Amino acid sequence: MRLGFGALKDQQARADAAFKGNSFIPYVRLRDDGDIIQMRIMSECEEDMAAQQGVHSVMLSGEFHNVQSRTQSGKTRFSDILCSLEEDDAGELGGECPHCAADNKRSTKFMMWVYVYAIYHRAQSTDPKNQLPRGKLGAQTVYKEELNKFMVWQDGYYMTQMLESRVERLGTLTDRDYLITRHGIRGQQKVTRDLDGEDPTPLDQDIVALSADLPSLLAIATGSVTNLDGSGPPPEQAPTEEYSEVELPSFGGSESGGEATYDSVDDLPF
Ligand SMILES: [Zn+2]
Repeated sequence: MRLGFGALKDQQARADAAFKGNSFIPYVRLRDDGDIIQMRIMSECEEDMAAQQGVHSVMLSGEFHNVQSRTQSGKTRFSDILCSLEEDDAGELGGECPHCAADNKRSTKFMMWVYVYAIYHRAQSTDPKNQLPRGKLGAQTVYKEELNKFMVWQDGYYMTQMLESRVERLGTLTDRDYLITRHGIRGQQKVTRDLDGEDPTPLDQDIVALSADLPSLLAIATGSVTNLDGSGPPPEQAPTEEYSEVELPSFGGSESGGEATYDSVDDLPF
């Protein structure tokens, strides 16, 4: 914890940077082969771990439907929406879920808040107006996309297993920064992601303080909150239950305004 007006100004500047601009909830997406994200996990697996580490959020996991809807401007949008069926003690599913009723497939995923410092790319940006600084990550030449913002991280079964083995060994997810590397070019069927932990470092308490204002993962997962300020979709943009007949890509929204901006069905975050 730092003291004084300097620290306060720093924190305000970071709060502005973290919440300004596009107000849609941003999701972690690694688009290209070799992309590396550098981030701090801001959610723990269990309540008691969160209390112990002093973080404000607990990981959410469950069955998600990838739901297509159309925005007011006529663009297609995909969101991962939590299935609303409930399992009883006998393991039987009950209740009602419009997405199950529409035969939309479910898959097991988790959601966490992360603070993303940067994404490192192997190639320079193709946008001439948005050229990235070149640098080194270890021995590797990389192009750094600096982000410094909160994002929702959502991934599936294999990443859950990697996280579980770390939690068993370390008892926490928030004691260090993590790197995730994507292996697999766009359009490839089999894309994998590696998780590397860096050396333990204290949580930045300014970032922890800012994270207290993030919307709840449950509200995001159920679709009732779509924006960083905690607001939901305007009525025109509420899911309109338009389902595609084709296999849908499975990713959680998009950081560029919630519109579908993927190039192919395989351009997924995971
Ligand atoms: Zn369902």
